[in-house]
Amino acid sequence: MQFNRHHSRGFVPTMGALHLGHLSLIEASKRDNEQTVVSIFVNPTQFAPHEDLAKYPRPFELDCEQAQAAGADIIFAPSVEEMYPVNPSLIHVPKVSALFEGEKRPGHFDGVATVVAKLFNIVNPQRAYFGKKDLQQCAVIRKLISDLNFDIELNLMPTLREADGLAMSSRNQYLNDAERLIAPLIFRELSALALKLKTSQLAPKDVDICLLQSEKVLTENGLKVEYLSLVDAKLMEPTKVIDDNCHLIIAARLGTTRLIDNLRVLDST
Ligand code: AMP
Repeated sequence: MQFNRHHSRGFVPTMGALHLGHLSLIEASKRDNEQTVVSIFVNPTQFAPHEDLAKYPRPFELDCEQAQAAGADIIFAPSVEEMYPVNPSLIHVPKVSALFEGEKRPGHFDGVATVVAKLFNIVNPQRAYFGKKDLQQCAVIRKLISDLNFDIELNLMPTLREADGLAMSSRNQYLNDAERLIAPLIFRELSALALKLKTSQLAPKDVDICLLQSEKVLTENGLKVEYLSLVDAKLMEPTKVIDDNCHLIIAARLGTTRLIDNLRVLDST
């Protein structure tokens, strides 16, 4: 559906600790809409008890300045008490949330779907902007919008990377100097693997062998790979077919930091 640019509100949900990746979403919304709303809310329902909720960076003043400079007209930063009653109802988006992040972080996508639905209802945007960096989240939000009849145009934006290829993330600041040097290997390995998959027509068992070889390289360099898989990005299920939707996805731990990334196979160069 097309909206008149002059009567539209774009929405960029974030957890703050903004970097250029976030700012690119705000700039895209600014280009497309008359008004841009950015939310800053570290959503407790998407963190498991052992995860980094307490230590998640919250540079609120700097975030506001950066969001405004990038084009935010309104910053919505509610408190946890404002957002959640006691024993909140939670939304579960089945299937696309089952594997990968959903498996490694049980309950994570219920928290994401719930907070995004609440924010959609509060902000009432015509367009919403999400980053492909969180590929499975994109699939969850696409299904949430469709299943719950949100009249919102979903815009999925490319991943911004550091010069050495590391996907920008608020969690990169947890990395120490030695880890920061290792982290770009994730994208280097994804790129090499994607190129191999794109250019050689591999039998399914050879795809698995290539995935295992890459995992071994990463492990030898100190990364603990939680998953490395070839998936259909709409279904978020493993695939062996190289087509438009086919992505490599990865989650890996480096020390205490958990990093995720992905690459569309046909985008590899
Ligand atoms: P977060 O604050 O981590 O919840 O992220 C807020 C939004 O920014 C989500 O839609 C993310 O997918 C998106 N995002 C995070 N990192 C990047 C990046 N490197 N490039 C583009 N978008 C990103």
